[in-house]
Amino acid sequence: MKSRKLSSSPIVTGQCLCGAVQFEMEYPAFWAWHDHSRASRLAHGAVYATYVGTWRKRFRITAGEREINRFEEKDTGAVRSFCRRCGTPLIYERTRSRHMINVPRALFRSRTGRQPIYHIAIEEMQDWAYAGDPLVPLKGYPGVFCKRSKKKSRAQEARLSASIRSSCA
Ligand SMILES: [Zn+2]
Repeated sequence: MKSRKLSSSPIVTGQCLCGAVQFEMEYPAFWAWHDHSRASRLAHGAVYATYVGTWRKRFRITAGEREINRFEEKDTGAVRSFCRRCGTPLIYERTRSRHMINVPRALFRSRTGRQPIYHIAIEEMQDWAYAGDPLVPLKGYPGVFCKRSKKKSRAQEARLSASIRSSCA
């Protein structure tokens, strides 16, 4: 997040949802991973977060620095930055690696040079995470797909509405 000019390495860019915060990173990133931990799940409001990690000196905020708020996790000391206008998670700084910063993969406009082949806290993966199961279109709801299931559990069956039952059985 230094304001000095970056080297001549290729640059990839990204932004938050509202666009107030813009950033750039030297390509390629150091690594990328899926984070299944409870803290990241809550911070993102998603089943897991996918991060791109890079050296701090290879990352720079190019616009909207004043729109960034920081939240420090009391038990770990980790700092999570987010856009105060739209709430998009921006930077995750872990105490164990102070020279690295982590940015949600989804915020980048293009490839980052690293595939997320690693998993952190995989033991916390939620049973409601989509695991690539085959899907079928939901009749009467364009653009909505549901898991093809030949044998539904009683609990699942109870939750399904009559229309979904008839369309996806
Ligand atoms: Zn924003």
